[in-house]
Parts: sequence; structure tokens; C-alpha cells
Amino acid sequence: MTSTALPTTADLRTRARTSLERIGAPVPEGTDFPARTPITGEELFGLTAATAAGTEDALRATREAFLIWRTTPAPRRGELVRRLGELLRDHKSDLADLITIEAGKIRSEALGEVQEMIDICDFAVGLSRQLYGRTIASERPGHRLAETWHPLGVVGVISAFNFPAAVWSWNTAVALVCGDTVLWKPSELTPLISLACDRLLARAAEEVGAPRDVHRLLLGDRTVGERLVDDPRVALVSATGSTRMGRAVGPRVAARFGRCLLELGGNNAAVVAPSADLDLAVQGIVFAAAGTAGQRCTTLRRLIVHRDIADTLVARLTAAYARLPIGDPFDEHTLVGPLISLQALDGMQDALARVQAQGGKVLAGGGRRLTDAAPRAAYAEPVLVRVDEQTDVVREETFAPLLYVLTYDTLDEAIALHNDVPQGLSSSIFTRDQQEAERFLSAEGSDCGIANVNIGTSGAEIGGAFGGEKETGGGRESGSDAWRAYMRPATNTINYSSTLALAQNVSFL
Ligand code: NAD
Repeated sequence: MTSTALPTTADLRTRARTSLERIGAPVPEGTDFPARTPITGEELFGLTAATAAGTEDALRATREAFLIWRTTPAPRRGELVRRLGELLRDHKSDLADLITIEAGKIRSEALGEVQEMIDICDFAVGLSRQLYGRTIASERPGHRLAETWHPLGVVGVISAFNFPAAVWSWNTAVALVCGDTVLWKPSELTPLISLACDRLLARAAEEVGAPRDVHRLLLGDRTVGERLVDDPRVALVSATGSTRMGRAVGPRVAARFGRCLLELGGNNAAVVAPSADLDLAVQGIVFAAAGTAGQRCTTLRRLIVHRDIADTLVARLTAAYARLPIGDPFDEHTLVGPLISLQALDGMQDALARVQAQGGKVLAGGGRRLTDAAPRAAYAEPVLVRVDEQTDVVREETFAPLLYVLTYDTLDEAIALHNDVPQGLSSSIFTRDQQEAERFLSAEGSDCGIANVNIGTSGAEIGGAFGGEKETGGGRESGSDAWRAYMRPATNTINYSSTLALAQNVSFL
């Protein structure tokens, strides 16, 4: 199914301007790079990128603001984040519009992304009263050992196009209550939603009396990001994007002994066991594989199905794929919007050609839609491909709705296949067998940062820490105790006796 009519680029331009005006965000128009919409594949506005001098100014300003912010009591820092959360609620619809216009997300997913920002603000406000260290039993009489957590410094946030606002909020809400200031280099593909978020935070700062420069936005491409990566004033570089980006950023930050939090690509799989509830599995699989047009880091890319149920499950998935409404993401019936660009479509078609050359059989999808209505947009039919083995193309992340179906006979074989990829972000098992579920979650099961049971690989809540292992980069963001990455611990030894006792019974003098 395809929605036939698409909004025009002029309509989308007006809609974007209206949202930005309601939020109060000025647009730095210029000729450095364009804001585009994947809905038509066309340009909305020309924009001005941050210069080297502008970046230097932002670095200096956020560093100076940090010196004030780090001594502001954490619960007062929480007041800034509480106000930000209120403004996000007030502008939920405008922000969702900008996400749909720039990233192509369907309406309910765009609203869901804004909800995620609101949720992390709520979480961070609570956290602002729970930044705790431990006390440790000292081996010396009259001594106390304690661990104190201090603000870290300026945090450089580099973010990807596919969660253009939520990833910023995971980092920023938590960093701000931790006493850090933030420099944000968003994806060059999603500048408008970044302008809106920056403006709302600036408004919140004005209203609660926080320093304006607790946050600065730097628009532009990777060269702007590289300045943050190399500057020793940036205490933590939190970078979300492809493994290719992480491979470039990680060693550069390490070379200056900076801290890095990497959230990189995934190649997520679900195991479907013979006892699985297939109704539940089909729903979970289709959302995880085709939702967000396959452009989530947690998108389901590999399905590892027990041989006994493979044909039944594949038939049901093929039927579900044939019914997926593809088209205008603003249309409430659409479930699959556009890919971000024609290059993304090329990448998908290239992977499809390679997997077919390696013996893969296409079961559903693979075509392109709306080519006449929007020749510069990339509306792709989600694809289901059956493969006999995990070849090199299956082991790569192709950032598109391309699901490979593999079969297995024993759970050991399924887990081995599951873990035999370079990435380690998200995973799941569909089973009603508790022993199987527990084995999948155990130390000898999934090697990912996220492991689920009877639910797909995508759609995490903010309460848990988010991130993955191996080439996914090892970072953890968002909930649980991910806040510790944004602070520095100091170990304190306090002697409240009148004797200088040395540790390990050392005697001296
Ligand atoms: P990308 O790597 O092309 O770009 C991400 C960001 O990094 C952009 O802001 C870009 O300008 C910047 N960048 C690129 N090279 C850089 C360099 N050498 N130095 C400094 N900055 C640099 O990624 P994308 O296409 O925008 O996003 C899709 C990718 O992001 C996928 O691989 C997806 O899995 C991943 N992703 C991961 C997570 C996660 O939490 N693990 C979340 C979202 C997206």
C-alpha cells in the first residue's frame, strides 16, 4: 500500500517555519549547508555553519559557565531541567513536526521521540537529588573513606540524524543536573530540530536564572565535530553515530586522554524458538524491523528462527510486509516513511544485490515507491530475505529496513549465530520456555548491551541504561547509573584521630 499524495516542499517549509516561530527559534539562514526534508528529498532552507572562531567562542563560553554551574546545588540545577521538560510538553506537537519533516518519522514515532525527551527530563530532575557516593570501611582506626562525585566539565555531544532530539536530551538533561555544560554538534541532516531544542533550553535558562552558556549549539558537518573531538577543554565527548565515525573519534579523544562515550551501530537479532507465541512475535518483529523505516540503531536486522517454525513464521511475515502502508509520514495511516536520503537507498540496494549474489532469496519487498511523485525522495519497501548462512553482508549494519532470516536447530547454534557479528547493541528471544529465556539472558547468552524476552529489539525505555558492546562502542546513556559517565569520582580519606596511621601497616618516621 502506498499513500499517493505527498505534501509539497513549499508546504513543508511553511510548516517548519511555523513550528520554529512558535518555539521562538531564529533560523541562521545562509549558504553553508541546507536543511532538507526526506519527505520530498528537497531543500528547505540554506543555513550557516559554525566557524572555527564561533566554535572557539562557544568553547570558552561553556567552560566559563561550567565554573559557575558546577557550584550550583544539584537540586537547583534540576530546576532548569524541570523547566525544559515543561517547555517540551508545551511544544510537543511543534517538535514532532520538525522531527517528521527532517528525519521522516511517522507522526506517532515523532511524538514518541518528544515523549522520550520529556521522560528523561523527569528522570534527571529526580536524579538531581540522588547523585550519591558511597562510604567505605577504612582499615585504619579513626578514619573514614568516602567517594564523592563532582561535575566533569564541558560535554561535547555529537548526535546522529535518526534520533535527532532524544539522544541530545539523554545526554543534556543528565549532564546538566550533574553540573556539566554542553556543546552540541547535531547531525548536519537535522539542524532545524536542534535549533528548536537549543532555543527551548535557552528559554528555560533565562526563566530559572541559569547561565545562558550552560548550552551552546554548533551547526555543521563533521569538521565542526572534529574541533570538539580534539579540544582538551571538552572533558567528555559523547558521540552517537556509525561505527565508522566512532573509529575516527575514539582514538583521537584517547590520544589527548579525554573521556569518550560511544553509541555506535548495531546489527540486532531476535531468536524465535519453537514455543514462541507467534502472534506476539510477528507484531514485535514487524515493528522492530520495518518501523522507523529500519533507521533505528536498535532496528531488527537478523531473525534467527527455529527450523520447525520457519516456514510458518516467514509466511506470516511476508503477508504482514505486503500490507505495510508506505508513504507520507504525516498521513496517520502510514507506518513506513522515507529513508533519509537517496544514498541510504543506494546502500540498501547494494546490500540487497550482494546478499542475493551470496544466495539470499527475497521473500518480500525490495521495490521503490513514489518515484514519480518525489524523484529525490527514497521510499523503500521493507525487505525480507532468507539466507542460509551469515555472510559478510549479513554481518554488516545496513541502515535500512532489510531483515535477514536465518534458521537454527539447537539453542546453542542460535546463540552462536546471534553473537557472531562485530556489533553488540540489542537482542531478543521469543519463547515461552523459561529455561531458554534465562539462558539467552545469562553470561553465556546474548553478548549485547540490551537483551529482551518476548519483545522486539527496538523501543527502549529511558529508565534503563542504553548502549552496547563490541563495535557498538561500550557506552551507556540515559537511565540507571549512566549518570556516572558525566561526573568524576574522588576518593576521600579523612583522619579524625590524632594519630597518623599509614595504610598497609607501613611505618615511617
Ligand atoms: P554518522 O556517523 O554519519 O554521523 C553521526 C554524527 O557524527 C554526525 O553529527 C556527524 O556529523 C558526526 N561525525 C561523523 N564523522 C565524524 C568525525 N570524524 N568527527 C566528528 N564527528 C563526526 O551517523 P548517522 O548516519 O547520522 O546515523 C546513523 C548511525 O548512527 C547508525 O550506524 C546507527 O546505528 C547509529 N546510531 C547509534 C545509536 C546508539 O545509541 N548506539 C543511536 C542512534 C544512531
